[in-house]
Amino acid sequence: MTTNKSKAKIMPKPDKHNFSSLSFGTLAVHGGNEIDKTSGAIRTPIVMANSYALPYDPSTMDWSDTEEPSYTRNSGHNQICLQRKLAAMEGGEDAAVFATGVAALHAVFFTFLKSGDHVIVGDVTYEAVWRLFAELLPQRYNIEATFVDMGNMDAVRAAVRPNTKLIHTETVANPTTKVADIASLVSIAKKADALLSVDSTFTPPPFFRPLELGVDLVIHSLTKYINGHGDAMGGVVIGAKKLVHHVKADALVDLGGTISPFNAWLITRGSVTLPLRLKQQFSTAEIVARYLDSEKRLAFVTYPGLESHDQHDLAKAQFGGKGYGAMMAFAVDGDPQTQNRFVSNLRVITSAVSLGHDETLIVHVGGGGRGGAERYPLNFQKYGHLRLSIGLEDPEDLVEDIKNALDVTFA
Ligand SMILES: *Cc1c(COP(=O)(O)O)cnc(C)c1O
Repeated sequence: MTTNKSKAKIMPKPDKHNFSSLSFGTLAVHGGNEIDKTSGAIRTPIVMANSYALPYDPSTMDWSDTEEPSYTRNSGHNQICLQRKLAAMEGGEDAAVFATGVAALHAVFFTFLKSGDHVIVGDVTYEAVWRLFAELLPQRYNIEATFVDMGNMDAVRAAVRPNTKLIHTETVANPTTKVADIASLVSIAKKADALLSVDSTFTPPPFFRPLELGVDLVIHSLTKYINGHGDAMGGVVIGAKKLVHHVKADALVDLGGTISPFNAWLITRGSVTLPLRLKQQFSTAEIVARYLDSEKRLAFVTYPGLESHDQHDLAKAQFGGKGYGAMMAFAVDGDPQTQNRFVSNLRVITSAVSLGHDETLIVHVGGGGRGGAERYPLNFQKYGHLRLSIGLEDPEDLVEDIKNALDVTFA
């Protein structure tokens, strides 16, 4: 007994780092995890240290090294475990984790853009990305951006300039659920000799893996589906080692924005159930979306799985029939106060920002947010919108909750 136990302590299972042959569900369980060498614990413990033991002669060390932990801003045990796991899940060579999704997005923009460069950005995009490219980066760093409809490849081609260095889009846009044609964007970016970065927060693996189509960098807000439990924030950039190394060296080591060991550990644990959660959430989302589509008291519903969605055919082909995500937007047929009354009458669904959690979340965003209404479709402009993120509750309870809230709102 004793002999076996001490053996386990000093010998982590072989080939734990060679994930390439494992299927996704297995990866989600075992990826990044290893037997702790000192305690024998079978799950990687939280290492709440900001510094690691130095070698005998530290003076010749590379202080910017992000592979061997020395200082937690650059690299730490739980970050390394999470990076390994996310790189394997997304099918990339390497990953860099950050404190938030926005820190990961900014890390990409900061690392690969310089004064005088031009960027093509999706016209519907996360608010912080919109402001970075509409105001902060142009005004402070002389980086030019053109906002383009990522559902229109001719418009993207027409926006390319000699100094276009980056094309950035969301796979499925927050909040309108516009679907970007990733394969076409890959060929446009290659031709333009520009990098293509995609925010795949709405379409996590194994559902969609943009690197397989030739995308250069995939970004996720780990705060959302990958953690999935609404109790930690994080972000990640995944791609080829030479690109991710650049991101770590420039944006992690010299800008900070590092994730805490505790949050990295929470996300490593939360992501164990990612494939199961997605399966459940996607199937519930289709049921709820079909109900919303049939509901006469709504002004509109948008969900890529509905035939009425502008890019339904593209979504079907691109996502290979594996579902359409679990994000949708709609509005009750009424004024902004009607939207607020409806939300306040919900009993199961929670009014809160964020998305991809275990619980279903709704948020009344109103007109166009900080980016102005013009970038949204006309029905969004007219009614405002409610963004709905489907969670793990049973679909019949969600449908009933919405029905009851509409009954009370229109009573
Ligand atoms: C939430 C979100 C972000 C930002 O992530 P944080 O973790 O909140 O910083 C970026 N992109 C999309 C699509 C998001 O939904």
